[in-house]
Amino acid sequence: MLIGNGMTDKNYNFEYFMNRAYALNRDKVKCRCCGRWLYTGTLYTHRINQQLPINKINKVSNLASMDKGCFELVKNATANISNLETETRKKIESFRKHRNTEGLKEFAEKKNQETIEKVNKTIDKLKRSRTKKINFKIVAEEAGVSKATLYNNDILKECIMSLRAIEKGVFNGDIVTTPKDKIQAKDDKIKQLYEVIKKLKDDKQNLIVQLVEMEEIKDENKR
Ligand SMILES: [Zn+2]
Repeated sequence: MLIGNGMTDKNYNFEYFMNRAYALNRDKVKCRCCGRWLYTGTLYTHRINQQLPINKINKVSNLASMDKGCFELVKNATANISNLETETRKKIESFRKHRNTEGLKEFAEKKNQETIEKVNKTIDKLKRSRTKKINFKIVAEEAGVSKATLYNNDILKECIMSLRAIEKGVFNGDIVTTPKDKIQAKDDKIKQLYEVIKKLKDDKQNLIVQLVEMEEIKDENKR
């Protein structure tokens, strides 16, 4: 088996050359797309998800053995494959799709991570400045992202909402205190909930009594 030319980038490491042999064995020495034997000629090994980091990209599970033709067709997403056998075509389409969707997913995740970092930095800056309020509008403006981005990101939304809540509380040195009327409101709410629970318990008790009575009536009717 030959090692193809141009395999000089960092993804062609020892692990790759070792695992492509394992992958070939798993694939029973056949092309994953068309099923052709790969005993002769150059082995091509496709990386299913091309966006993975170096420690994951060459795992056996991410490798698929192929012949040159199929390998090129997977790589070249616009190449016409309508003349291929249905099964082969489906497999090539699936590899193409996987390659693209995985790529898009990775890209979106990376973008999201970048946004979180950017917004976190902005929040830190705002916290230190102590002059500006922290709310969605200001954070969005300062970080250069849309408000929708902040709302749609659970981590950021929660972070900003909790900071806003702290700001609305009364500062007492570094300790945040909650206004008395808020505590009172909470106490009232708890009391109300206890009453609801008590009522539900009573209802349940009554239902049990009714159920027992009904059973007894049923029994009596049977006799
Ligand atoms: Zn093939």
